[in-house]
Amino acid sequence: MNREATADLVVRAGTVHTMAAAERPVTALAVRRGEIVAVAAPENAQDLLETWSGPGTTVLDDPGLVVLPAIVDTHNHLMLAARNSLGAPVSLAQDIPRFLELIRERAAHTPSGQWIITGADWHELHLAERRMPTAEELDRATTDHPVLVLRGGHNGVLNSAGLRLAGIGPDTPDVQGGYIARDAAGRPTGRVQDAALELAQKALPALPAGALATGLAHASTEYAAHGIGSVRDPAVTPQEWHTYVRAQADGRLSVRSHAMILSTPASIFAAGSMGAYLDALEAQGITPDAGQGRLRLWGLKFILDGGVEAAALERPYADRPGYHGDLMWDRDDLAQCLAVCVRRGWPVGTHAFGDRAVAVLLDAIRDVVGQHGPIPPGALVIEHGGLIGGDQIADAVDLGVHITVQHALSDGLGPALLASFGPDRTAALWPLRELVDSGAWISAGTDHPIGPLDPLRCVHGMTTRHTPTGVRGPEHAIDRAEALRLYTSSGARLLGHAATGTLVPGAPADMVAYRADPFTCPADDLLRLAPEITAVGGEVVYRRA
Ligand SMILES: [Zn+2]
Repeated sequence: MNREATADLVVRAGTVHTMAAAERPVTALAVRRGEIVAVAAPENAQDLLETWSGPGTTVLDDPGLVVLPAIVDTHNHLMLAARNSLGAPVSLAQDIPRFLELIRERAAHTPSGQWIITGADWHELHLAERRMPTAEELDRATTDHPVLVLRGGHNGVLNSAGLRLAGIGPDTPDVQGGYIARDAAGRPTGRVQDAALELAQKALPALPAGALATGLAHASTEYAAHGIGSVRDPAVTPQEWHTYVRAQADGRLSVRSHAMILSTPASIFAAGSMGAYLDALEAQGITPDAGQGRLRLWGLKFILDGGVEAAALERPYADRPGYHGDLMWDRDDLAQCLAVCVRRGWPVGTHAFGDRAVAVLLDAIRDVVGQHGPIPPGALVIEHGGLIGGDQIADAVDLGVHITVQHALSDGLGPALLASFGPDRTAALWPLRELVDSGAWISAGTDHPIGPLDPLRCVHGMTTRHTPTGVRGPEHAIDRAEALRLYTSSGARLLGHAATGTLVPGAPADMVAYRADPFTCPADDLLRLAPEITAVGGEVVYRRA
């Protein structure tokens, strides 16, 4: 074979799980220009190595490796992780004293007067005190800096200097759509929620140019270290999309990202109509499939109900009598907007967590199908579908709706889910067995940073139904091969493009290698199994030190 036709990379491992429909034993593969060009059965592996190796070929010959397609995570907030990576790393704290120490350490390197913002990827239930810190405690970390502690997307705590700069004092009236926590004397305690948190966010200076791209570089490196090759990023602003474009052009993305533009009823209303909203995006080059290299625009993201604190439920919350959660959309508006998007070729993923939200969404989609006939596969997606059940599963199959499921939330939010939904509904979350058996097209995500990033940890949860509050709904478990299929080929189909989630000739060489076989290792080993190597498009983006 002439030198032109040699491979850039050849791999011989103990096992290669190709995830191809009719899988036959494979132990070797060759990669050229980012694509797999050949695979070989054990008896032909030596031949493949000799045929495809040349002077410029990297050879990875290790019978101890087990190779899989790199993980495809179809609901994972990489941009949010990028922001978190820039904040004070309070997720490392196990109690409030350590939490304050981490802020104090950040303060020591921050000019006085400048804001200190934390990462949002932590939860008070993981602190010994099981509560958020107060303004008074944050003042013990620093009074020279305004501090904004972020937790998830809806909650914050300010220190006294932060409260002052946000204009929140004893005389500040309550804000519509938000919450300012106060003590008995009416003084703000520092805790702010939603619209009140926005008051604080408005007081923040813009991030320095390039900071967020650096965050993307850090976060995507971390993703690659977890065996992830592609994510679908479900909440990106148009401005953040442009940051993504720059990061991709500068070669700073270690993994592929398929971004979704977060689109609220308010922003669509402000544009005048759904059509005008799409026109405005398209005018700035934001269109389905825009992007190059490791970056693609997937479509839009709608949010129909809340998360664990505000999912729209048929029966009230277990810990809030009479409260059924919140719907952010009017059903008819939702149907109309989805119809416009389908007509214009814009895919939409809609966050629907509670059973009532799933019902409203399926009802709206039924309208769309009624008007336009069958929708293209993957054009409309249910994000989460936590409490989907019964007839809703059959309806989703009928309507051709994709569902991306996040069992990792049972891990990340375990005690909160149990308190909010009670034991029966907590056990009913993500009925994976029924979804797979009904022929529903589903894929998997961890919803990082809300759920833990590690996909094999999530596979452990999907197959054992283990959660921090014990095993919940074991009858809904699926097997290892099914779970890994959701995380590879099934998710790749939703992303489209060249992504296949398989290791066959013609597929992009996105792969991950482990020291043990995630298909067959003891279940609890999944919690410890970490990649040796991750490659995206044939480029090694992570190698264990
Ligand atoms: Zn999410």
